[in-house]
Amino acid sequence: MKKIALIGSTGSIGKQALSVVRRHADKFEIVSLAAGNNVGEFLSQVTEFKPKVASLSCADKQVCSKMPKGVEFYQGEDAFKNAIIDDADIVLVALVGFKGILAVLEAIEKGKDIALANKESLVVGGDLVMRKAKEKGVKIMPVDSEHSAIWQALNFDYQTPFNKIILTCSGGAFRDMTKEQLSTVTARDALAHPNWAMGNKITVDCATLVNKAFEVIEAKWLYNTSFDKIDVIIHRESIIHSMVEFADGAVMAQMSYPTMELPITLALSGGQRLDAGLKSLDFAALSKLSFEKIDNERFPCFNLVVDTAKFGGNYPAVVNAANEQAVQLFLQGKISYNDIYKALYGTVQAFYGGHHTDLDELIEADEYGRRYVKELFGV
Ligand code: NDP
Repeated sequence: MKKIALIGSTGSIGKQALSVVRRHADKFEIVSLAAGNNVGEFLSQVTEFKPKVASLSCADKQVCSKMPKGVEFYQGEDAFKNAIIDDADIVLVALVGFKGILAVLEAIEKGKDIALANKESLVVGGDLVMRKAKEKGVKIMPVDSEHSAIWQALNFDYQTPFNKIILTCSGGAFRDMTKEQLSTVTARDALAHPNWAMGNKITVDCATLVNKAFEVIEAKWLYNTSFDKIDVIIHRESIIHSMVEFADGAVMAQMSYPTMELPITLALSGGQRLDAGLKSLDFAALSKLSFEKIDNERFPCFNLVVDTAKFGGNYPAVVNAANEQAVQLFLQGKISYNDIYKALYGTVQAFYGGHHTDLDELIEADEYGRRYVKELFGV
């Protein structure tokens, strides 16, 4: 029985992880749950899974009295750290945003293996995270579907040599829009992803292709490779979840209908092939599998974000913070879609910062990026 600490249980990944645990109740057990503000959903999860520890970032004082008896309960912005308990064998980090790195570093400090959904942690502090994980002998299992596909193609062995990684990309909600059309799109349009149902922030990141840039950075750190060995190709159908090319020219692709339950199951089980609720692929019904290049003219955020990681230091942390702030303003209808690029570009141009990444510097860079974007738009 594998004991799981689930951080971010009420989100899109969190709920799908609980569905995996329900399907394999003989293999997985929830020992702790942590979430943010969705009190109703959280209480029903706690009632069903009876964790030892539960924590919420929400400050509502009424929640405590509603907790089932016997559950150790914590509240506060960083209370999720209390859910990373000694009892857990693995921590699924499914928080959204910069905070994810705090959960990841806490799990590493406590020597817990990690199933990693939160890509922002590797974007902002990949060097720090991978170094600390190595020091502590902590394994990081990818939950992101592209990185899971790569892991599968490498036969779950990070040491397998390869020529290059080919990340596939659905293209997001705006893949067919002209530059002119992009100037008037709304948050509602951005949230209508053609192939995946996910949390709001990542869905907007898919529409700007910031998400794909994040995945390039995530792949660089997870697979200890260089940027010139990572390609990205638009593949509208989301059937091939990514590919790996080997020295002999052979390419291994992982295919399935889109579902996060497959990568979650693989990450939690350490690469075991268990039922993930998937239907067999009906190849005859797949009329075609298509591949296109990214259009950098229409989606300038992609190169901008990858370039910050090539530059290194705290630039990825700054651009991530600018993006989180800008996406939040876009979702609130306060800025336009094109303003997201302006926010990222402006912040990176204005920032001049350190070349070392320790956690304090990352936090400073994060605060800088958020502050800059708020000032830029006067909010
Ligand atoms: P959601 O927005 O759906 O969920 C985020 C979760 O984090 C919620 O449970 C939320 O709680 C919780 N949370 C937020 N702040 C805190 C806090 N301070 N303390 C504790 N919990 C907190 O996001 P997704 O599930 O879509 O994404 C999660 C991560 O996984 C992201 O980094 C994303 O990039 C990555 N990812 C997601 C994929 C997907 O299919 N959704 C695919 C691949 C990667 P509450 O809702 O209660 O406020």
